[in-house]
Formats: sequence, C-alpha cells, structure tokens
Amino acid sequence: MATIQLKQVEKKFGDAYAVKPLDMTIADGEFIVLLGPSGCGKTTTLRMISGLETVTGGQILLNDKNVTWLHPSARDIAFVFQFYALYPHINVHDNIAFPLQAQGEKKELIDERIKQVVELLRIQHLLNKRPGGLSGGDKQRVALARALVRRPAAFLMDEPLGALDADLRETMRAEIRQLQLRLNATTVYVTHDQIEAMAMGDRIVVMNTAVVQQVGTPTEVYYNPANLFVAKFIGSPGMNLVQGQFADGVVQLPGENRYPLPDGWKNAMTRGENVVVGFRPESAHVNPEGKLHGEVYATDMHGSYNMLHVNMAGDNVVHLRADRATRYPIGANIRFDIDPPMARFFNPQNEMALRRQ
Ligand code: ATP
Repeated sequence: MATIQLKQVEKKFGDAYAVKPLDMTIADGEFIVLLGPSGCGKTTTLRMISGLETVTGGQILLNDKNVTWLHPSARDIAFVFQFYALYPHINVHDNIAFPLQAQGEKKELIDERIKQVVELLRIQHLLNKRPGGLSGGDKQRVALARALVRRPAAFLMDEPLGALDADLRETMRAEIRQLQLRLNATTVYVTHDQIEAMAMGDRIVVMNTAVVQQVGTPTEVYYNPANLFVAKFIGSPGMNLVQGQFADGVVQLPGENRYPLPDGWKNAMTRGENVVVGFRPESAHVNPEGKLHGEVYATDMHGSYNMLHVNMAGDNVVHLRADRATRYPIGANIRFDIDPPMARFFNPQNEMALRRQ
C-alpha cells in the first residue's frame, strides 16, 4: 500500500485560508480520520490529497514520490464519497467495472477482480441490479467495491456513511474497518462525527478553523486533549470545563468549591493564576465525603447509568456519570470527587493544556 506525507500543505480561496499550512505523515496501512466541525477544512485537505483540489502551497508525497501537481487519475488513489456517485443507468457489475474499463483493462482481468471484490463485500447477488433499487448500505458497499477494484495505493473517504441511518452506520463502520484491516489499506477518512472517529481511527486529526488542533490516537485525544477546543469537541457530552483560580495548592472553583491539586501539578501554576479544570463525566464520582459540591439541575437516564447535570454555582453546570439505580432529586445538593489522575488543567488565555511539572 502507501505512505502519504503532507509538507506545509495549505489552501487559500482568495485571501481566506481553507487549510493553514499542515504537516502530517500517514503510515502504510494506517487509518487516519480527519475530524472537525463543518467548514474546518477536512474535505479540502482530502481533495488536495486526491488532486481534485490544487494546493496553494506545500508538497504532497505518495510513497515518497512528489505527486503535488499530478492529475487525480495519475495518483493511484481511490475516492469514496457520501453520495455514492454510482451511475444509475447501468447495473452494479458495470458500475464496479467502470474504473477498470476506463483504464483499458482486459475483460478477463476485470471479471477476475470483480469476482474477488464482490466476494469480499458479499454483494454477489446484486451484480445485475441497478443502483436505484438498492438500500443505502448496499449502495455504499457497491461504491466501496468500485474503489477497491482498482487496487489503489490509498483510499480517501469523505463522510461515506453520512447518508445512512444510525443502525446501518454502525454496521458499515465495522465493515469498513474490518475491510481496511484485512487489506492493510492506507485510508484517510473524513467525518464530523466524533463517535465515528473514535471508533474507526488509528489516529485522529482534529481540525478547527483551517488549523490542525491535535493529532493523536483516540485515547490520546480523549484523555489528553491538547486544548480547550479538543476537550469540548471530543466526547458526548464533552469534557467538563470549569473556570478557577490557583492558590495555596488548591484551585478555587465557583460556589466556594476548592479542588486540591493532584500530585505533580502544583508547580505547573503560579499563585493567583486563572486556570480551567477539566474532567470527563465518568471521571467524577458522587461521594458523600467528596471535596466538591453542587445542586442537581437535571438527570438523564441512559439505561446503564444516570447522567447528572450538577450546577456548581451560577451557570457552571457539570455532567457526572452516576449509577442507574440511585435517584437524584432535582435541587438536591450532592458532593462529588474527581479521580485525581483524570483531572486536566488548561490556560484560559491561550486555551492550551497545562502539563504536569
Ligand atoms: P463540511 O463538513 O461542511 O464539508 P469541511 O470541514 O469539509 O466542512 P471544507 O469543505 O474543506 O470544510 O471547507 C473549508 C472552508 O473553505 C470553508 O470555509 C468553505 O466555505 C471554504 N471553501 C471550500 N471550497 C471552496 C471554494 N471552492 N471556494 C471558496 N471557498 C471554499
């Protein structure tokens, strides 16, 4: 398969950056997810890798070869879109055959490749049907087959599951990931769905406003977000973020809450410094002896757990995951703790994570 390298790759439309200079190396067989809100530059990045969009600066290397100015068809990369882009007037067999026919391949080779790919995707029974009569999932399988049949060096996928309903998305997520692992196919996958990104990526590239915010494994971006944007964007709900001020070994939080700093953090801050305390809902525990407190504002039952919305003071509402059996009346005062190793701290000015010292 392939390695892909982006060196200071950027895209401007007029004076506006769609993607600010970006460096990234994608390893052979790696599944990389570009994740971020609408308009952050994910699709433009993918289109630049494919050659469908020209760069305004930087270089793109495929297997160490500079492909920056090569036509898309000369890059040996296959693109799978959200809306299938299947030809409605020809059957599934001919749709899958199309890229090989366009390359002038012989009929025997085309038949052999189609046989392999439809077995892999278990869509043999669809070969004589037209796309119009297929379900969303089958249309997406056919689109994948058409990408696979070329045996490209790498796959680029732009929200390929975006048009499917929730159940099918989950099934297709697992299918694509399994296929990718079996083929050891270098893949760049765009989504704005952080659950999809966490489930599928070897690494996630989190983008916002044309800038890469963090590149890391799902575990890294979830537990060690580089900044406040990543902390809020990843997770459902995102990380709890509470403004405070550091003094004498504690962070003073709203509602006269005083959070004692865990080991290793005391030298990361100076007295009087403003700091944001971050913690995931599952890293906080209701505890009658807990050091923090607040008033139950709402509760959501999620089946296996309760999500408590707790107001620490003013509008500082945090989310805590609590056991499903206990009832937490609205308005009740509760005490809770944060697992010391799971607390995170951020500088509110530059919004970057502070590191233990
Ligand atoms: P979405 O999830 O909505 O597709 P995205 O993260 O993929 O968003 P891009 O489509 O890459 O974002 O767009 C990045 C920015 O570049 C946006 O501000 C968009 O309006 C702008 N942009 C994209 N294509 C063009 C174009 N052809 N001309 C001008 N501006 C463009």
